[in-house]
Amino acid sequence: MTVGNDTNPLRIAIIGAGPSGFYAAESLFKSHLNVKVDVYDRLPTPYGLLRGGVAPDHQRMKSVAKAYERIAVSNPNFSFYGNVKIGKDISVDDLRNCYDALIFACGAETDKKLGIPGEDLPGSYTATEFVGWYNGHPDYQSRSFNLKCKIAYIIGQGNVSIDVTRILAKNDAELSESDITAVAQAALADSGIQEIHLVGRRGPAQSAFTELEIKEMGELEDAEPVVNPADIELNEASHLELEDEKNHKARKNMHILREFAALSPAGKKKKVVIHFFESPIELVGNGKVEAIRLVKNRLEGEPGNQKAIATDETIEMPCDMVFRSVGYRGIPIEGVPFDERRGVFPNTDGRLIKDDAPMYGMYAVGWIKRGPSGVLGSNKPCSAKTVETLISDIASLQFAPARSNEQLLEKLKNAGVDVVSFTEWQNIDALEVEAGQKVGKPREKITIVPELLAAAKTAVRS
Ligand code: NAP
Repeated sequence: MTVGNDTNPLRIAIIGAGPSGFYAAESLFKSHLNVKVDVYDRLPTPYGLLRGGVAPDHQRMKSVAKAYERIAVSNPNFSFYGNVKIGKDISVDDLRNCYDALIFACGAETDKKLGIPGEDLPGSYTATEFVGWYNGHPDYQSRSFNLKCKIAYIIGQGNVSIDVTRILAKNDAELSESDITAVAQAALADSGIQEIHLVGRRGPAQSAFTELEIKEMGELEDAEPVVNPADIELNEASHLELEDEKNHKARKNMHILREFAALSPAGKKKKVVIHFFESPIELVGNGKVEAIRLVKNRLEGEPGNQKAIATDETIEMPCDMVFRSVGYRGIPIEGVPFDERRGVFPNTDGRLIKDDAPMYGMYAVGWIKRGPSGVLGSNKPCSAKTVETLISDIASLQFAPARSNEQLLEKLKNAGVDVVSFTEWQNIDALEVEAGQKVGKPREKITIVPELLAAAKTAVRS
């Protein structure tokens, strides 16, 4: 069989309609082959982390959705199948029967654990669930967060922890410009948070956040950053790290942290206290988090590879709530190899590997390929590389016997799965934007699956 020509397109299923999935679709359409691209997502809505992860007050970043929409609407060979769970509603084998290759773009949906006593006490939350909750992700709408308290600790110093800090620190007027859910906005407006502690296990030169994000801590109306000057003194190896030509990020972060350390108290209502060289060793409390025990760390190792080593010094601080923000992990899908240690689908240049052998026809992009790293734009070259691998494999692919997904859609229909098309997503989109406009927000998200499915059937576009 010859595929990829005018009469018989190469048939690709992408599992996951987030940024990496859309970039993979874009790369496929730019290839010299005729390709049919069907994108499946377990939610009725596309855009993955762009919708459910990127902070609601970072609307400029969210505007990249327009580019993804263009990919969908300008390619007649693109289809979206929302509300379809692969591994549950249909299997990987079902997909292999009607697609020449599968590209997994399903991200890293769960969180890493700290593995300390008290981690599961009420008042201890994951950043994943808090971010999902305030961003309107249907999985997290039943969660409740007791924000009527004073002191929050956030463990980890990546951009996700900065997002959580900022959302806790902003006042109602600041949040009104975002597309945070109405429920989360009301709960935050009613919160009693006065101190937000951002805890890093290593030093300021190793912090994982980026310049723009840490800078925002100094631009909040009701909150001010607090950095202890003694905490940002560097050891010899960290000085060498900063001198490294390529380490722009650390130099920029250090510059901002030094500015914060030099600030005089401004008397704002909330403090964002940025700590270094500390790791939590226990969350303490009787039935809920009441205190956090931290150990002081020192750094050991070569420049660029310094590790936090616990000292004998520990402290116990009062604390009402804790958010663990120490990175994400992928979730296995039946029929797909999984690297338990890294939480990714094992691959070489995007092609999956099983027992050290290449799996022609099975590919990965984004966080499920490389782990939870990089910014949105990092997914574009990552997806392009996987598509390059896929196209170079074409002679080794086993072409799908079924040249359409008709039977698969029939199976979904018989199972009562309400599949959402891209046009139907545009109905949801239009309703959300319209609802947002009424209250002066960019959009008011629909957060419950049955309501999203009903909105999908409501045509509001002329
Ligand atoms: P991240 O950048 O990998 O940061 C994870 C943080 O957790 C690091 O500070 C890490 O410290 C710390 N950590 C890991 N294990 C720990 C442990 N056992 N105990 C204490 N601390 C621990 O992850 P992320 O914040 O989840 O972000 C994921 C990716 O999304 C990143 O690439 C991020 O830049 C991106 N993102 C970007 C934006 C944006 O562009 N605005 C917003 C959100 C997320 P070590 O360095 O010591 O390991």
